[in-house]
Amino acid sequence: METIKSLALFCGSSEGADIRYQHAAREMGDLLHQHRVTMVYGGGNRGLMGIAAERLHAQGGRVIGVLPRILDRSDVRQKRVEEELIVVDTMHERKARMYEMSDGFVAMAGGVGTFEEILEVFTWLQLGLHTKAVALLNTAGFYDPLLTFLHHASKQGFIKGELLDALIVDDEPARLLDRIDRFSVHLGDKLS
Ligand code: AMP
Repeated sequence: METIKSLALFCGSSEGADIRYQHAAREMGDLLHQHRVTMVYGGGNRGLMGIAAERLHAQGGRVIGVLPRILDRSDVRQKRVEEELIVVDTMHERKARMYEMSDGFVAMAGGVGTFEEILEVFTWLQLGLHTKAVALLNTAGFYDPLLTFLHHASKQGFIKGELLDALIVDDEPARLLDRIDRFSVHLGDKLS
């Protein structure tokens, strides 16, 4: 990849009910390795987070975990990435560190933690606080209901069309990464 050196990966601390989510997490780990992209993530060894991190780390890729002190327990820590583990005091500090270190943001399938993280960076894009890519990996149509809702909110006059157009959505990890690499946004004062 030409413009992207590191990506924040937000994804479930669970594995999900459909095996395709785990396959996607592995594929993401492989692709980040192929493209020499550093993965920045929440630092646990659970669920899809752990699967992607382990896969990348096992191949010699760079994985940076940012873990809040409350989750710094041996059962949560991703042991094999400890040398790249940053322990911070609060959840807010964790997010700030993850955002600073990343050139773009990807949400894979996940729960409320994942939604909160990706929607926050999407809000920041809206406010012009950054111009980094915000992307949903739509494995098995996982994000279709959210997209329906976002379009509903847009039709109802709460979300600008330009903002929704800026959200990268793809069900193919390789294509998603390619689109992130080519992303540039000039939303300017259209959204704020
Ligand atoms: P969820 O989607 O609700 O499973 O939450 C996953 C997201 O929230 C991840 O991207 C993490 O940043 C954070 N998170 C939630 N649970 C944990 C955990 N046990 N260890 C590390 N991070 C977690």
